[in-house]
Amino acid sequence: MPRIGAHVSAAGGAHKAVERAHAIGADCVQVFSGSPRGWKRKPIDQVDAAAVFAAQQATGINPVVTHALYLTNLASENPEQVQKTIDAIVYDLEFDALLGGSGVVVHLGSHQGRGWETVRDQTADAMAQILERAPRNGTFLMENSAGQQGKLSSNLEELRWLLDRLQAPNLGWCFDTCHAHAAGLYMGDPADAGARRSAITEIDRLQLWDTLKVIHVNDSRDPFDSGRDRHANLGEGQIPAEDLRCFLRRPELQKLPFILEVPGFAGEGPDAENIRRLRELAEG
Ligand SMILES: [Zn+2]
Repeated sequence: MPRIGAHVSAAGGAHKAVERAHAIGADCVQVFSGSPRGWKRKPIDQVDAAAVFAAQQATGINPVVTHALYLTNLASENPEQVQKTIDAIVYDLEFDALLGGSGVVVHLGSHQGRGWETVRDQTADAMAQILERAPRNGTFLMENSAGQQGKLSSNLEELRWLLDRLQAPNLGWCFDTCHAHAAGLYMGDPADAGARRSAITEIDRLQLWDTLKVIHVNDSRDPFDSGRDRHANLGEGQIPAEDLRCFLRRPELQKLPFILEVPGFAGEGPDAENIRRLRELAEG
């Protein structure tokens, strides 16, 4: 059975997020290590990992996944922006290592019109610096994107290229269902894909199952292949439930955490109803 969970607020500390996840019926959780819209973080030695473990012990919530901040761009033309990104992801990998090393989900960034081939060496070099500096038991997870505004990794071939280039045991990736839908990756039965690219066929072809560590389960407000990244509550967006069900029930995914990043029916983020809907999709 997959672990069903959600991204929730870590206001007051990550142990509070564990309690909040438990309160909506989740089995696992995802957090930011600080504000996703700011670079500032408290000193890493002030992170209270013992409080997180105690909350996990009390609730059964496991794993605790981290999401890097939204400002990251490893492919930026601005060296200062790249350096800030490197420092921020190193911090998050230290944070992740303290909390058990389940992974830091990272948006790689945007080529800003320059194209993947132009920025891929720079991106790999920056990632190599991060992996060199970060603790080995922190796990770097690249997230597939919707492809809007030159965002890297809407094409899964880019993830394969980076994995091959870096050859790091603590490098993997995260599949986001909203981003895949927006990027024109069909999640239903490959036999029904028609002219559409099939996510399952692509992951098979690129041999990406074993490095896949986390699934973000989100519906999409925008149509297939729109390139737009706007998450919707499960059942309220444009991804057909049977396609999502087909993908989520793949045997390769049954040991992975499934994390919701949805607006919530009250507009306050993932809630008990989205958890219930995800359980139904994933488990029947
Ligand atoms: Zn996501």
